Amino acid sequence: MKQPVIGIAINEIFDSGEMLHHLPISYTPAGYVKAVQEVGGIPLLFPISTPQLAEQYVRQVDKLILTGGQNVDPSLYGEKPLVSDELFSRERDEFELALFNEAVKQGKPVFAVCRGLQLINVGLGGSLYQNLEEEFKGTVHHMQAPVDKEIPTHTILTEEKSILRDVYGKETKVNSFHWQGIKRLGEKLRITAYSSDGIIEGIEGEDFPLLGVQWHPDFAYNVLKQELDVFNFVVHKL
Ligand code: MN
Repeated sequence: MKQPVIGIAINEIFDSGEMLHHLPISYTPAGYVKAVQEVGGIPLLFPISTPQLAEQYVRQVDKLILTGGQNVDPSLYGEKPLVSDELFSRERDEFELALFNEAVKQGKPVFAVCRGLQLINVGLGGSLYQNLEEEFKGTVHHMQAPVDKEIPTHTILTEEKSILRDVYGKETKVNSFHWQGIKRLGEKLRITAYSSDGIIEGIEGEDFPLLGVQWHPDFAYNVLKQELDVFNFVVHKL
C-alpha cells in the first residue's frame, strides 16, 4: 500500500556558534518527522521559499503540516508589535500562508500546530492576543517552562462531533508552550477545544479538512498515547 506523503513546512534559525559556526540552519523539530514516520507516513520537508512555488510544493504531497515557531507578524492582522520584531519572519508567514491556501485549493488536508494554528487564523481574517498574560487577565499559565515539554499542564474541553472529541475525549490535559492565542476567530473556522480558562486550543475547518491545535503533540507523541493518536489520525484519516 502506498504510504501517505506528508509535507512539513520547516523553519530557519542561526546556529548559536556552538555546533555549526553561526550558519543559518533550515530545520524542524524532529518530533514532527518521527511521529509521522512512526504512524506510517512519509515526511517531506519544505524549506521556506517564495509563495509562487507553493503550488508545486503542495502537489508533491497528500497532506500538509504547519509547525510551531515564531510569532505571526502582527501587521498581518493590522496591529503594531507589542513584542520584539525579531520574533517574526514575514518570509515564513507568507510562504506558509501560500502553502495553506494552495492545500485548500487542491483539497489536501492540513494539520496546524501552535504557530501554525495562529497563522491560519490570521490568514482567514482573524486576530491574535500578542501577550496572553497582559491581554487576557486571569489566564492559567500557557507558557509552562520550566516544566518538561511533554508534561500536560492544563485541561482542555473538546466540542461534540469534532475530530478532537474523537481523538482526545471530552476532557483531557495537554502541554502548553504559547504566549499568544486566537483573539478574533477567522472565517470558515470552528472552535473545537478550549482551555479551562477560555483560551481557544483547537480549531477545525468548516468546509475544508483542517485540524489545528495550540499545544504540541510533537513534544509528547513518544510518551502519551493520545498525542501519537492525533498523528495517526492526521496521516490516515484527516
Ligand atoms: Mn495552552
